[in-house]
Amino acid sequence: MKIVDIKVYTIKGFRGDWILIKVFTDKGIVGLGEAFPTWHNQGKGLKELILWMKEILIGENPTDIDRLWTKMYQRQIYRGASMSGFLTTAISGIEIALWDITGKAYNLPIYKLLGGKHRDKIRVYSDYHGGKSSRPEEFAKRATEVVEKGFTAIKLDIDLEEWRDTQNYNIPLRQSELRHLTSLVGAVRNAIGPDIDLAVDCHSSFNMPDAIKIARSLEPFNLLWLEEPIPAKNVDSMAQIRANTNTTICIGENLYTRYEFRDIFEKNAADIIMPDVQKTGGILESKRIADLASLYYIPMAPHCVTSPIGTMASVHLCASIANFLILEWHMIDIGWWQDIVITKEPIVRNGYIKVPENPGLGIELNEKVISKLLR
Ligand code: MG
Repeated sequence: MKIVDIKVYTIKGFRGDWILIKVFTDKGIVGLGEAFPTWHNQGKGLKELILWMKEILIGENPTDIDRLWTKMYQRQIYRGASMSGFLTTAISGIEIALWDITGKAYNLPIYKLLGGKHRDKIRVYSDYHGGKSSRPEEFAKRATEVVEKGFTAIKLDIDLEEWRDTQNYNIPLRQSELRHLTSLVGAVRNAIGPDIDLAVDCHSSFNMPDAIKIARSLEPFNLLWLEEPIPAKNVDSMAQIRANTNTTICIGENLYTRYEFRDIFEKNAADIIMPDVQKTGGILESKRIADLASLYYIPMAPHCVTSPIGTMASVHLCASIANFLILEWHMIDIGWWQDIVITKEPIVRNGYIKVPENPGLGIELNEKVISKLLR
């Protein structure tokens, strides 16, 4: 079997454009993949990089996934590409399509090719952001609505838009603001009770002293995790926050490949890691990161903000790793999320996604719906 073509489809998704990929073979098998969504720019830059890989992949056997991954990765480094960013995002999306082809070729679901499954269904948390306004009652009301839909874990944001001035990072907090964000989390904890898991995202927004104050002020609420109070790029600084609080720290949605995760483990910078399969290098690279984390008894809670295609790639990964904690699901407000694929039942049910048993990813696109969403 040989790869004969690669196509990219940019569709209007949620919070950006979804970047879907089809890899075509001479045997008629077509693999589906998805790279990390781009902002509302129709995939510019990323789309070109994915198509650029054609010169490496056309004529190759798509089932030699690791060899082709290494070839794509290493070839571009000498062309000035960094070992992260859009390059790795492009490779991630293509790699997922290669797994889909391989699964279809051997008539096996992807998880089987990864060593089999540890579980039949994947627990997901619902990222609901918070309230329409930043009033604690509003955050609490929305949290209750999400929990009533069957989720046993939720995530909210505390980097409020109104605090952003000219910068997205190093936002300094006034005492009143620290009190306010603590009251938001407190109101939610109070509304959902002690047994629903609660994660809190900071989107790398705060400076070091305030990040420590936030982590400490949230200790009474027994968080599932506090996510990236500062950017994860300076691992030593993250380790300093972790050393100064009892709140569980989770990082990694903007890190790429095993090389960038290595420092986290060696420097004790996180309690939980959250690689994004559509960004960090794909399914196999994420499994490698999970295995590295397992050496340190660190669980993995993959980040995920994609269409059902990318989500299902993450589901196969989550099924196959021993140290899985929970998977992100970001689409509670998008009623049409699963309409782009052909399914008989809801993909997310009572806070879980069933691991598919069909070959490859186990789902196919609904081309009629996709054609209407194309950019
Ligand atoms: Mg996040």
